[in-house]
Amino acid sequence: MLNVAKFGGTSVANFAAMQNCANIVKDNANTKVVVVSASAGVTNLLVDIAHTAMTTEQTSAKIAQISDIQFAILHALKDPQEVSDKLTELLDSLKELALHEELLHRPDLKDALLSHGERLSSLLFSAVLKQNGLSASNFDVRKILRTDSEYGQAAPQLSEIKQAAQCLMLPELAKSVLVTQGFIGSDEHGNTTTLGRGGSDFTAALLAEALDAATCEIWTDVIGVYTTDPRITSAAKPLPELSFEEAAEMATFGAKVLHPATMEPALRQNIKVFVGSSKEPEKGGTWIVRDCKSEPAYRAITRRKDQVMVTVKTPKMMFAQGFLQKVFTIIAQHKLSVDLVTTSEISVSFTLDNPPNSVLQRLNRETIEELSQFCDVLMEDNYDLVTVVGNNMHSAAGVSSKIFTAISDYNLRMICYGANPHNMSFLVGNGDSTDVVKVLHKALFE
Ligand code: ADP
Ligand code: ASP
Ligand code: MG
Repeated sequence: MLNVAKFGGTSVANFAAMQNCANIVKDNANTKVVVVSASAGVTNLLVDIAHTAMTTEQTSAKIAQISDIQFAILHALKDPQEVSDKLTELLDSLKELALHEELLHRPDLKDALLSHGERLSSLLFSAVLKQNGLSASNFDVRKILRTDSEYGQAAPQLSEIKQAAQCLMLPELAKSVLVTQGFIGSDEHGNTTTLGRGGSDFTAALLAEALDAATCEIWTDVIGVYTTDPRITSAAKPLPELSFEEAAEMATFGAKVLHPATMEPALRQNIKVFVGSSKEPEKGGTWIVRDCKSEPAYRAITRRKDQVMVTVKTPKMMFAQGFLQKVFTIIAQHKLSVDLVTTSEISVSFTLDNPPNSVLQRLNRETIEELSQFCDVLMEDNYDLVTVVGNNMHSAAGVSSKIFTAISDYNLRMICYGANPHNMSFLVGNGDSTDVVKVLHKALFE
């Protein structure tokens, strides 16, 4: 009946928020593994340090902001002495990396730096749990969360993780609640890696899988998964239940409440996933399960920002066999994933994720350079991808016409429909996407 509980950045932002999480852990005797994100804002500060050329003073100011957040939590503890040395040690190692001359050019150092957010918050949260009378210890997830060496976007190595978790983590669970870090791992050389932004949800699901857990709880700042991001429209409604497939589509297509890969381990092991608010646990939340009571045509609308549309063109395409294969081989070599594709006689357009300051952005640039060697390449950004998630969308009459009628005033740059029964996606200008989501939400859910 093991439960893995994950608390996101706002849930561990300060002492009061951590205290809410401690109550949630106390309330469920099955919660033996706790995964935490960095305190809210800390990873963003670390990303700034890792990606921007700054003066020593600027870097020190960012570090001071991080220290303030963490020391405020430390000072609220009844017995700060217990963890203060370790906290200082972590902050010293953070400083050393932040001022490292090669930081901007070394992805391995960037990941080592980024890992400090989760290492700090997990140290503090284990102290908060102890203060609440629980037997708890801080567990370094890097001992078990083996990944490849793709810094910034590392892929987990499932069989190694399972073996290490069963060996090193499982026996400990009889003694205490283990508080561990989301988002980080280590490669075969022992170097620290990260799973990509928002990766702590993924860590929780991976640990749940490796430990054969029955449930995985994602505690965040909203009372479940909504019909759309409640920050886009206040008309969004929380969903009591979702299927694994629907949740996976939503996560892939931009519902930030779940990291895109979170549902993969859950699906493989049939682990029920709960999403709820650590501030208001009494309000319930969303259960994500294999078999849902209902299969509505429209379940939710998501938006993924920062898309780039790439058009490759060669006058020779009509005759050149293997052109598409060449294009997609290059994309695959860079481990990029394509969502939307359209083809004509002499050109192919496709979309890629292009979030600023990310590994993907660098890979996109390298991809474009390689493609340019054998065709004309046009790269257009400032697009967002809007997706309607539902069931049997390709086979039910009228499903698409309702959607198209609602958004007929907007310019849809690309459309993907029919390849998958669970979604329909459009590429729209980023200036239009908020309105497109609002208008669609009104037509489909209000
Ligand atoms: P955490 O730090 O707990 O991981 P995130 O900020 O990553 O939290 O995710 C929670 C946020 O996800 C919410 O505040 C909300 O704005 C956003 N979000 C986007 N789409 C949805 C959705 N469909 N349902 C709920 N929240 C969503
Ligand atoms: N702290 C990391 C981030 O902000 C991971 C997470 O919060 O899930 O991206
Ligand atoms: Mg998150």
